[in-house]
Amino acid sequence: MCLICVDLRNKKLTPIEALANYSEIQETIDEDHVPELLNLISDALMPERVRLDDNSPDHVDDVDWKYGSD
Ligand SMILES: [Zn+2]
Repeated sequence: MCLICVDLRNKKLTPIEALANYSEIQETIDEDHVPELLNLISDALMPERVRLDDNSPDHVDDVDWKYGSD
C-alpha cells in the first residue's frame, strides 16, 4: 500500500487526483502494487455498479404499447 491508497481510502483524494498523483510517481511505484492501486481508483470512480441492464431495449418496448390506448 502506498500514500495514494491511504489517501484514497481516507477520502483525502478524489479518484481524479489519485490518478494524477499516480502518473507522477508511476516510475517509482512498485510494479506489483499498480493493479491494486488502479482497482482502488476505479472503485472510487464507480462506487455503484453500472447497471447496463436497466437500459435494455425491452424497457422501451414496455413503454411504447401504452401509447395505443387512445
Ligand atoms: Zn497504494
